[in-house]
Amino acid sequence: MSEQKKGSSMAGLDTYYAYVEDGELVLEPYCSCGNPLDDMYYCDVCKRHRHPTDVLCEDDGVLRMVEKYIRTSSKFRTFKAMLGKRRTTES
Ligand SMILES: [Zn+2]
Repeated sequence: MSEQKKGSSMAGLDTYYAYVEDGELVLEPYCSCGNPLDDMYYCDVCKRHRHPTDVLCEDDGVLRMVEKYIRTSSKFRTFKAMLGKRRTTES
């Protein structure tokens, strides 16, 4: 037990949380620590700029919308869409 990485496998990656509001796709960036990121993608918990590329989609409809963006927009080309739930910082 010389090495102990605290929660490294649980920490996850920086992600967007995708959902639809009033028919519009909304992407909320989150830091890997669970903190929501601001417009500058800056996490004031980690004191770092983050660059999320994984997109967690709350359901199939959102997933299809995000995948379409990934296919059609160069801005989204590096993104990866997957089904997933928003992580909460509350326990
Ligand atoms: Zn953070």
